[in-house]
Amino acid sequence: MKKIAILGSTGSIGTQTLEVVRENRDIQVVALAAGSNIELLEKQIREFHPKTVAVWKEEKAAKLREAMKDVDVEITYGMDGLIRVATIEQSEILVTAIVGMIGIRPTIEAIKAGKDIALANKETLVTAGHIIMPLAEQYQVSILPVDSEHSAIFQSLQGGQRRALHKILLTASGGPFRGRVRDELREIQVEDALKHPNWEMGRKITIDSSTMVNKGLEVIEAKWLFDVDVDQVEVVVQPQSVIHSMVEYEDGAIIAELGTPDMKLPIQYALYYPERRFLPGERLNFHKLKEITFEAPDMDTFYGLRLAYEAGRRGGSLPTVLNAANERAVSKFLSRKIGYLQIPEIIEASMNNHKVIDNPTLEEVLAIENETYEFIESRW
Ligand code: NDP
Repeated sequence: MKKIAILGSTGSIGTQTLEVVRENRDIQVVALAAGSNIELLEKQIREFHPKTVAVWKEEKAAKLREAMKDVDVEITYGMDGLIRVATIEQSEILVTAIVGMIGIRPTIEAIKAGKDIALANKETLVTAGHIIMPLAEQYQVSILPVDSEHSAIFQSLQGGQRRALHKILLTASGGPFRGRVRDELREIQVEDALKHPNWEMGRKITIDSSTMVNKGLEVIEAKWLFDVDVDQVEVVVQPQSVIHSMVEYEDGAIIAELGTPDMKLPIQYALYYPERRFLPGERLNFHKLKEITFEAPDMDTFYGLRLAYEAGRRGGSLPTVLNAANERAVSKFLSRKIGYLQIPEIIEASMNNHKVIDNPTLEEVLAIENETYEFIESRW
């Protein structure tokens, strides 16, 4: 029995992780954490019998405790609760399916407790990759990518000579506004941006995909996961989302991972690596597919991607500013306080306002996150 804990069990990745658990029957869920959806969390507790669960707010924990009176489960809350779930003694793997930089501290504590990390929470690596990757090495734990592109890169590197890796070809769907110019994006509403052409995901990442900031975060995520320069990561728009990413070796050979868009594949691969298991679901049918097309990304219209390359190249604390500014801007857009085009504007202004610190400590990363939020609140 493999034992896992999940941060963000009520979200898109969290619920799909539980589907993988349900289909395989040889994984035990020992701890779960969620934000506020205690109705779903209650169902998950009754089905998967975790020993510990955490929610974000104390009052939600009290409500959940009341509803769970008949069940033997520890219910905690806040950052301490997330860390408790992340480090629970019995688990071997922590699935980080929480959204945003809030995942940093629990991930660090889980590594220190010797847990392997199935990492979906890319914001953690973007902002604290320089802390997390060496720590994982020190504690001899694996960081297994769940993001579909990074899983595809990871799969394409199996059996290859890692040191002969020349570049990474990170594929992108281009999002729902591919082909439009900047002026045509001015009137975009929340509902328009929440329609992703190929993937069903949480709200934040769906907006990030539409602005292509998601691809920018993935470029920086790839830099940390695969120890490459950001300029060794080339974004290739492939609108059908059939090729999930590729690697090019020194001799020019390109290895890719292809499939139908289904996050259960990378989730299951991370949980059972290096084993491959049967996964029910639609298979790729090349006769029906007929074509796979390619384009270069439009970094003038979707300049959040260009800003991410800049942040990744400069490194230090700049990716934290990029990420924090994006988190706050997306949240403001989702609550209709700013327009769509203000998302990259806010990121750019926050980056320009920041004096970069090289190699920031965890405390500095968290302080810069707050400073970025304060800067944004003072202006928008
Ligand atoms: P969702 O918004 O669907 O889910 C987020 C999860 O985090 C929910 O369970 C939510 O709980 C929980 N959460 C949010 N805030 C807190 C908090 N303060 N304390 C505890 N739990 C909290 O996001 P996704 O599943 O789409 O994405 C999760 C991560 O995975 C992101 O980093 C994303 O970039 C990455 N990712 C997602 C992919 C996808 O297909 N969805 C693909 C690749 C990467 P609740 O809802 O109960 O409030």
